[in-house]
Amino acid sequence: MPALVIQTSFLGDTVLTTPLFAALAERGPVDALVTPHGASLLRGNPALRSLVVYDKRGRDAGVLGLRRMARRLREGAYDAAYLAQGSLRSAVLARAARIGRRVGFDTSAGRALYTERVRYRRDAHHAERLWRLAAGDAAPAPASDLIRPRLYPSADDRAAADALLAELPGGGPLVAVAPGSIWGTKRWPHVPALVSMLDDVRVVVVGSGEDSVLAETIAAAAPGRVLDATGRLSLLASAALIARCAVLIANDSAPTHLASGVGTPTLAIFGPTVPAFGFGPLAPRSEALGVDGLACRPCHPHGPRECPLGHFACMQTLEPSRVAARVRNLLDTHPVP
Ligand code: SF4
Repeated sequence: MPALVIQTSFLGDTVLTTPLFAALAERGPVDALVTPHGASLLRGNPALRSLVVYDKRGRDAGVLGLRRMARRLREGAYDAAYLAQGSLRSAVLARAARIGRRVGFDTSAGRALYTERVRYRRDAHHAERLWRLAAGDAAPAPASDLIRPRLYPSADDRAAADALLAELPGGGPLVAVAPGSIWGTKRWPHVPALVSMLDDVRVVVVGSGEDSVLAETIAAAAPGRVLDATGRLSLLASAALIARCAVLIANDSAPTHLASGVGTPTLAIFGPTVPAFGFGPLAPRSEALGVDGLACRPCHPHGPRECPLGHFACMQTLEPSRVAARVRNLLDTHPVP
């Protein structure tokens, strides 16, 4: 009997759900209910039988959209739903689809409608938390390989990434930077200074089209060494691009998880949030950087729009020279592609 994983959250969470897919696929067919963006990211995942796209903010919005989706899911005859995204709406959808077993976290908003509740381990990485929806509370701590996310860019994705990289002439190490984030205080403001310091390194800026202004500032700091790839590639082609780079420098945001999915060592910069929340980088040799000893840190589960204290010390005082030293260290220990 097939299982359904419901994951309609942010892109980073979708990437971190891939170890759960792999664990469930050992028991039988697995489908994933995801957003349109999530579907584009999971294309080619061998653990998934099919993707069910739930456009909850578009054509499937509202009660009518939920009812329509529930009818469609009933045809799937799922014996279990795994609520990787814990909203009440997702729980109502699983029950309306008449899925008898509904497994989710004991802290989720929809938990009253679950038939099995798994402890939400605040001290674990979120990939492990999600994996435990299949493995259960009593399972021993997983090996790192079991909870490392996986993404599967296609040959076309890789070709698109390579065609873009051909626009960046010269040799030398290739480093990706992802300066953006939905949350303003998660953006480290010293990326241009860092790129200027790394004067023998070629840099590719990844992100959405909304990050193009940041990319322009970075390119201006290092003329001739920076390729602006923001808004120019699909999500999986962006992952393929990151896979071509020796290191990714990113904030606590989705590109960190893309890099985990393709195994690129990542320097993840944390300001108002901390890795202990469970969203640090998982690619081998990755590191999380942040300012220790700040009494106000962390101040928010995601990162406020602006620093409530005005000084923004969690990001402003993280010196570019400190980050550059860590990049140098990774470039020395990782073969240049
Ligand atoms: S209150 Fe502290 S942790 Fe929060 S944004 Fe400001 S400096 Fe950063």
